[in-house]
Amino acid sequence: MTFNTFIRRLKKDIIDLTSHSKEGKKSRERVSVDSQVEGLQVAAHPIVIPSSDNDNSNRNMAAPNPNAWSNWAGNQTCVPAQIFHPTTLTELFAIVQQATEAKKKIRCAATGHTWSSSSVIQSDGYLVIVNDMKKIYAPVHVEGDVWTVEMETGVLVKDLDDLLRAHDPPLALPSNVVLDSVRYGGILSLGCHGAATETRTLPDLVSEVKIIDAHGVLNTFSREKDPKEFAAAVINLGLFGIIYSYTMNVEPMFNLHMTDTFPPLSDYFESPQVGGPKIKAMVLGNQSTEIFYWPFNTSGLGASNDHLWVKQWQRSTLPVTVSPDQEKFLQVTQNLETTFGDKLYEFMAQNPSCTPFLDCLIFTVMKSDSEKVLQAPDAIHYQAGIDNIPCLDMEMAFKADDNFENVVLAWNYVIDQIYKEAGQNNYSLNLTMEMRFVKASDMTLSSAYDEDKDAIFCMIEILSVINTKGYEDFSARVGKYWMDKFQAKPHWAKMWEHVPGIVPYLRQQTGGRLDEFEAIRRKYDPEGMFMNKTFAALLGH
Ligand SMILES: Cc1cc2nc3c(=O)[nH]c(=O)nc-3n(C[C@H](O)[C@H](O)[C@H](O)COP(=O)(O)OP(=O)(O)OC[C@H]3O[C@@H](n4cnc5c(N)ncnc54)[C@H](O)[C@@H]3O)c2cc1C
Repeated sequence: MTFNTFIRRLKKDIIDLTSHSKEGKKSRERVSVDSQVEGLQVAAHPIVIPSSDNDNSNRNMAAPNPNAWSNWAGNQTCVPAQIFHPTTLTELFAIVQQATEAKKKIRCAATGHTWSSSSVIQSDGYLVIVNDMKKIYAPVHVEGDVWTVEMETGVLVKDLDDLLRAHDPPLALPSNVVLDSVRYGGILSLGCHGAATETRTLPDLVSEVKIIDAHGVLNTFSREKDPKEFAAAVINLGLFGIIYSYTMNVEPMFNLHMTDTFPPLSDYFESPQVGGPKIKAMVLGNQSTEIFYWPFNTSGLGASNDHLWVKQWQRSTLPVTVSPDQEKFLQVTQNLETTFGDKLYEFMAQNPSCTPFLDCLIFTVMKSDSEKVLQAPDAIHYQAGIDNIPCLDMEMAFKADDNFENVVLAWNYVIDQIYKEAGQNNYSLNLTMEMRFVKASDMTLSSAYDEDKDAIFCMIEILSVINTKGYEDFSARVGKYWMDKFQAKPHWAKMWEHVPGIVPYLRQQTGGRLDEFEAIRRKYDPEGMFMNKTFAALLGH
């Protein structure tokens, strides 16, 4: 048996293992995708590539009612009047026309990895699932190292990576989300980000977005045409209409030197005065930085001996140190680990008193210093299979102060809360806390918005596995603390609606920008065809 056959068989085993409960639905989905690709009429420029659709998308959709929809984590559900699966621009126009005639509301969804209620639509509305809008147009060379690529809203992160890698010359995005099984319409319209500091959030790489509005008109937004409208339209929360495509800036492929270290927690978080400047120096010295904390990672129920996991990336001219076969093997192993890890976490959620022991065990297994040079996409999507572990996640962004002292305070508040709770035998946070750092965005609704382009935002998040008792209260308390102390703003794609007082707080903190966004939005959707309950309150309706 060749190595590739072995890998293919192993992958199949994993897919079988992870898809047992959703087998029926997934095999049906696969048939429709394949037959659609075969029969597709390819337009002059688009390149259509076979889908790498991930088995974990909408993993809870196998509900008895064919119109029932739920997101990946299962914390959002709705039963719309009709669900559409368009494959062409013409079909998108037809859906808007049908909604106009029937006076229906519309929300869109892709693979459903968002935790907030963004895709939830009232029961007489339409849900448009855009996963089959997945054409990628040929990359265009602008000048020097600048290239652009236009892709339809449903293009998977992995599919764009693969296409750019195979391009002559090979191309890549400078930054991305860790997960490669999400789609660009979802990640860009909600303001997602990676760990690269200098290149900001992903919407900051967009040069053009095309959206069909409530009048049935396809609008093209670009900085050159109208910078204010463009800044509102990129992170549009699905409120401007159905997004057809985004165009993003990409660059020639590059390598990243990636290191994983596990220093004592106290190295960076003993005090704000000492730890803050150390974190700042590390962030400014790296292309990307990510810091993780696994609760209870040493025995003894105290933070004093706990360790961090620090991931750092630097651009490198050194050759790649991991062969494509080794990389494939690593991904298969990671998929296996997360599949097995999911079982442990499930057990932990059902038996909370085991949390310290199991978290310590998991961290001990993971803890292994490493150093490698990888092509950018492999380094950015360093962990395969993270969506094998269904979890809940609340994330906020706040501006780091001059010495990053507030970064240490925000982090240490959570650690104090974790151990305070543990003293009462409560374990609401059982997965991880992590933070990444990005420079300010000028997109109107970005959680990292700032007029100072050099401001650095700390994107901090806390995650627990689904069904963890107490996580909602815990994360609401932490979110409120970050808002009150550091004027933090929520990540629109993660959990935020449960934080007490968040809508009035956001109106008070960012009212001017919300009003500016609303004035532009109204031009494209005066009757609120694309509005939902949460966003209506946020926009002052
Ligand atoms: C395991 C995991 C890891 C993650 N890692 C990161 C990370 O590293 N960084 C980060 O920032 N986020 C991260 N996220 C969040 C994730 O990137 C976002 O939730 C993203 O939106 C998910 O993409 P999706 O394809 O699932 O979109 P969905 O969740 O299906 O859709 C999101 C929203 O996009 C809008 N939308 C999508 N397509 C259209 C369209 N054509 N027209 C109008 N509106 C549209 C809708 O409002 C919809 O509600 C992670 C999520 C998970 C579950």
